[in-house]
Amino acid sequence: MRRPFFRTFYRRLSDSQPFFDTQTSRESLKQCKLKFLRNCSEADVCTISEVANLKRDIYDVAIIGAGASGATLARELTRRGTSVVLIEAGGKPETLGRFNAAMKWYDRSPVLSLPLRSKEGVIIWRVFVDGGGTLVSCANGVRSLEKELSEYGVSLDAEFLEVEQELGISPFDEDFLSEGSKRIRAAAEKIGIRMERMPKFIHARKCVRCGLCTYGCTYGAKWSSLEYLKEAVGNGAEIINKSRAGRIVIENGTARGVTCTGPDGILEIRADRVVVAAGGIGTPVILQQSGIQSAGKRLFLDLFVTTYGVTDGYTLADGPPMTLVNRDYHADRGFILSPYINRARLARLVECGFRGFPPDERSLVGIMTKIRDDEIGEVHPDGSVSKAVTDSDREKLSEGIALSKQIVRTMGVKEKDIFISRVQGAHPGGTAAIGEVVDNNLETEAKNLYVCDASVLPRAPGLPPILTLVALAKRLGKHLSR
Ligand SMILES: Cc1cc2nc3c(=O)[nH]c(=O)nc-3n(C[C@H](O)[C@H](O)[C@H](O)COP(=O)(O)OP(=O)(O)OC[C@H]3O[C@@H](n4cnc5c(N)ncnc54)[C@H](O)[C@@H]3O)c2cc1C
Repeated sequence: MRRPFFRTFYRRLSDSQPFFDTQTSRESLKQCKLKFLRNCSEADVCTISEVANLKRDIYDVAIIGAGASGATLARELTRRGTSVVLIEAGGKPETLGRFNAAMKWYDRSPVLSLPLRSKEGVIIWRVFVDGGGTLVSCANGVRSLEKELSEYGVSLDAEFLEVEQELGISPFDEDFLSEGSKRIRAAAEKIGIRMERMPKFIHARKCVRCGLCTYGCTYGAKWSSLEYLKEAVGNGAEIINKSRAGRIVIENGTARGVTCTGPDGILEIRADRVVVAAGGIGTPVILQQSGIQSAGKRLFLDLFVTTYGVTDGYTLADGPPMTLVNRDYHADRGFILSPYINRARLARLVECGFRGFPPDERSLVGIMTKIRDDEIGEVHPDGSVSKAVTDSDREKLSEGIALSKQIVRTMGVKEKDIFISRVQGAHPGGTAAIGEVVDNNLETEAKNLYVCDASVLPRAPGLPPILTLVALAKRLGKHLSR
């Protein structure tokens, strides 16, 4: 008889015994040619429909996480004939363009469905779904950290050119700017703040200006790494969805595979090389559980706040978010400004409290201040996060808020109609940094164990990181194929 899913799942998750000495299910082995190890009785044996299709005993490369970096790497490797299996904690996105569906992808508390927070109260937005953060991105595509990475001997010139071409990066179409964006630009320029059009990975031809990019694009206008994932699968990559990687199997200092837990129990998948691409928070947990204790430190989030203004009838909601940007303060002051609103009242309730709930999105503008925050956070082996806002972070945020308020006031918004969100972050990274946890080929102290995601970034970019991450994954793809 099959155990109720939750009982089995949680019992195994909380099981502190190593998986390796456990009873093998011969039936399952026959079915899927996997090394399928169990720590439960025959009564627990359940069907393994999802993994039954796996074709190999040993893969060339196992990739943990099918997000921005993992999906890119899978595509690069399979194009060169490498056999790849992806282990992804999330599922396939079934509905795109809907707030309620998109919220289900986020890392949330089980009862109140509130987003993950650091122990100090910073809101952290991260998703579990095929495509990872690219699915919910605002499609901002800018180069970042070129200089910092080159100091570690990592040059991404060729890869940046490749990715910019493939993603069709170009400044957002002038004709598609929302009324709110145009008014923000005019007001900013009046007080000497330049707003340029944001480089985007949106095909203008397909975009209908619904402005729902962050719920997953329904029209195929916004690039997401689902496109790369699809190509990788077409080239033979296999995906195990809804399975959470636990620890890397390391034998004599060399990675040999990975264990993961999903609806069907605990699997051990063997591979010649293992790449952890579970994002800035997921990756250090796996590394620490695998004995790499140096991981988990130096967490950054690219902290941000939004300065909202209630208008007399114009909005940012009739176009994509963040279509303009001011980067003039980035190098010296460590922040950028960009027009942005959270359209859903519930999301504003979370980020602003009760003040954020009543305004109608059709009369709302906002300016995001995103900073290069101090890399002082920590991800602990149990997945909890410590991340405080330092004095220096507060200074940058305050400077951005002051400028944003000036712009909004210049637009004619009254003081009483201006409100500010809580501090939050959506770019976790730095927790397995180059030079600290991985070398400049992204390999860890364990041979054949690599990291490929925002964890490896040596500094907070304070800018959208997807382009850099895709470029890094392309570079690793070339390295592993040599
Ligand atoms: C709302 C929002 C908007 C954003 N907009 C932009 C933007 O416009 N431009 C930009 O450059 N950046 C943007 N970002 C940031 C960007 O999405 C992330 O920085 C980027 O996706 C990080 O890539 P990654 O490969 O490190 O991780 P992710 O893309 O997060 O991928 C990690 C994957 O690993 C999976 N995973 C995690 N743990 C495990 C585990 N234990 N086992 C198996 N799988 C696991 C996750 O489900 C996920 O699919 C945005 C982020 C958010 C939240």
